[in-house]
Order: sequence, then C-alpha cells, then structure tokens
Amino acid sequence: MTPEKLRALFGGLQVWQRQGRRAPHKCLLALWAIGRCLSGESRMAPYRLVDERLTELLREFGPPRRSVHTEFPFWRLQHDGVWVLDRTDGITLTSSGDAHKTSLLRAGVRGGLTEDIYDTLRANHRLATQVASDLLAAHFQETQYDDILQRVGLDPDFAAGRRSTMRDPGFRAVVLRAYEYRCAVCSFDVRIGTRPVALDAAHIKWHQAGGPDDIQNGIALCVLHHKLFDAGAFTISRPVDGGVVLVSEEAVGSSGFSLVSRICG
Ligand SMILES: [Zn+2]
Repeated sequence: MTPEKLRALFGGLQVWQRQGRRAPHKCLLALWAIGRCLSGESRMAPYRLVDERLTELLREFGPPRRSVHTEFPFWRLQHDGVWVLDRTDGITLTSSGDAHKTSLLRAGVRGGLTEDIYDTLRANHRLATQVASDLLAAHFQETQYDDILQRVGLDPDFAAGRRSTMRDPGFRAVVLRAYEYRCAVCSFDVRIGTRPVALDAAHIKWHQAGGPDDIQNGIALCVLHHKLFDAGAFTISRPVDGGVVLVSEEAVGSSGFSLVSRICG
C-alpha cells in the first residue's frame, strides 16, 4: 500500500458527530492499534482486551458519558478499510447493524489492523508518525496530544519526529496510583468525575537519559511542577533516597517557591 493511500484511509474514518464534536472512539482505537504495531505486539487483539483498554482511553479522553461503548468502534472500524476481525459468523447484530457486546465477548472475536497496513507501518515509522499526528489533529485538542500518545504507548517525542523509543503505557497508571493521584510537591488533586486532570507521571531520571519506566523512577506531578521540574527549577531525589525536592540555585522569582520546598513521596 502506498503511504498516500494509507494516510487517506485513516484520514477518511467515518465518525459520528454530535454538538459539533466528533466521536473519538475510532480514532482512539486506531491510535492504540498503531501503538501496538510499533511496539511489536501481535496484530490481532481479543475484544476483551480492546474493551478494557479502549474504555480507559474513552473515559480519559472522550466526552463525559455514563456508559462507554467499545463494541461500536471495534465493529464499525472494519468498514473503513483499516481494520479486520478474525470472525464475524455467529455474531448477533442490533437493528442498526452493530454487534452486541456480549456476543463479541462470548465468541472471543479478535480484531486488528489489516495485514497490509500493519506491515507497512511496522516498516515505516515515519509514516506511522504522520498517521498518528493526522488522527490527533483531526480529533483532539493540542493539549491532549502528549497524554494520548503516552497512553497508547507512542512517545510524544516520537510523534514529533525526534526519536522512536517506546514508553510503557502502564507507567502513568502505576505512578499516579502510587501517589494517590496527587502532585507529590503541592498535593494538587483536581478531578473531573474520577479522571485526574493536569496531573502527570514524570520520570525522575529523564527517559532521554535512560531513565526506566519503573515505579522507582516515577513521580506524580501537576503540570506546573512537571514543567518546572523538566526546566530544571528543582530536582528530586528518588523516593528510596528520601524523595527530597531540591530547588535549583539558578531558580529565582518573587513568589511560588513555597510550593517547591516540601518533601515528596
Ligand atoms: Zn504541583
């Protein structure tokens, strides 16, 4: 498949719209599948796994909804030419032509990118970057890009075309849970519903410097403190070493420093 054809297929995903907002379901499923592809995971994934992961993604990045329907994108994406199911026989359908969730689960249906697309993206990371960027630009706000890319296992810097290492999408969940969904420096813990906002799982030793996706190397920081940390305004010793916040001698200002002097962890 040519790169142009492949980008056009993802660019042409038919998505449902309401109140001027495009449903992100298919886009998130496609991004998750691309993340799996680039990290070498098997092409086909059981619906049970897709349901689990896509539910998390939709809860975090989708519009607020009481219930989340992962069976719709899992079934409908096959009509866009990028996704296949390993079996469709015996699946019961609704009057609108969608698969019943229970039926997909019972039959153990697996879905994944088409073989052609999977192989093309595996062999061409630059193209995968373009497709991921296209999908984000078409469906999400810029402030969401990095979080989404991290959550599907695509490094944001990778998508910016700078490098191609993969991060563990489980890192964020484990770190935030360990810090009880609070910034380790200022205790910021605002949520919308159950979803923490403006809270990051930061690497104490930067990923670029070889810091592992390991709980011992992780810390929960609000976006302000994450930016200050990444900018070098303060450093943090590892939790096992006491987890002390050390403010840089270079950092100056008239206010805001009271927040960067606590003990974290
Ligand atoms: Zn903070």
